[in-house]
Amino acid sequence: MAEKRLLSLVVSVYNEEAALPLYYRAVQQVLESCGWEHELIFVNDGSRDGSRELLRKLAERDARVRVISFSRNFGHEAAMIAGIDAAAGSAVVCMDADLQHPVESIPELLRLFSEGYDVISMVRTENRSAGIIKNISSSGFYAVMNAMSGTDFQKNASDFFGLSARAAAVLRSDYREKVRFLRGYVQSLGFRSTVLRYAAGERAAGHSKYSIRKLFRFSMNTIMSFSELPLRLGIYAGVGSALLGMVILVYSLVMKVKNGAPDGYT
Ligand code: UDP
Ligand code: MG
Repeated sequence: MAEKRLLSLVVSVYNEEAALPLYYRAVQQVLESCGWEHELIFVNDGSRDGSRELLRKLAERDARVRVISFSRNFGHEAAMIAGIDAAAGSAVVCMDADLQHPVESIPELLRLFSEGYDVISMVRTENRSAGIIKNISSSGFYAVMNAMSGTDFQKNASDFFGLSARAAAVLRSDYREKVRFLRGYVQSLGFRSTVLRYAAGERAAGHSKYSIRKLFRFSMNTIMSFSELPLRLGIYAGVGSALLGMVILVYSLVMKVKNGAPDGYT
């Protein structure tokens, strides 16, 4: 019999006590029949609800469950990186814990890995529960990113993606920036890559952990780290106002000497 391959599932968890049991049950069902060994790596990103305790119990019962717990909330990107660092699989798949990334896509992902793909970007066709503001700001974010960074990022790429062991190794060793844009890196890794589409479902339970404020901060950080344009704009503005200041200085002195401008002004 052929040797079974190992799939590492990396799942970020931030206050997901309501969704976790549903996710675990759903993913278990899919993994049972997929013909791969698996490990489930949950990264608890400083949850303040019962997630940590829930995960501890899961790990106690199921030897394939591994838990990494952060000391505080470091953000989704940091959680995914920590999970990828810990993953031992010949394939690594990152996904959310709220079932918005359908576990039903996993067999398809595994099929693509078997065909030799190294990078599989999951692109959502619709995001029903995101709301109009999030959808519009997301379009705007990608427009700015693509215009500024010179990389053509796939709009609607998600934090749902698959990496072969060697693609994950490159991500581990060469992408250690503090400000990260993981789904962007994934698209710039190279290797044999492909795109798989999925419809983002409704959140299984609980509510979104990404406030508009958090998203805005994330977007600004990402734009700054991918392009020097904001820095340049700052420099241009500074040099521009300095030059304008010089012109006004010279003009004022000339007016004073020539025409005797009112006292005190110059
Ligand atoms: N998440 C995280 N840290 C955070 C925020 C979110 O690990 O600071 C996790 C969250 O538990 C979920 C995933 O990242 O598994 C996506 O978050 P969410 O579903 O809240 O975002 P949305 O789908 O609404 O964009
Ligand atoms: Mg979600």
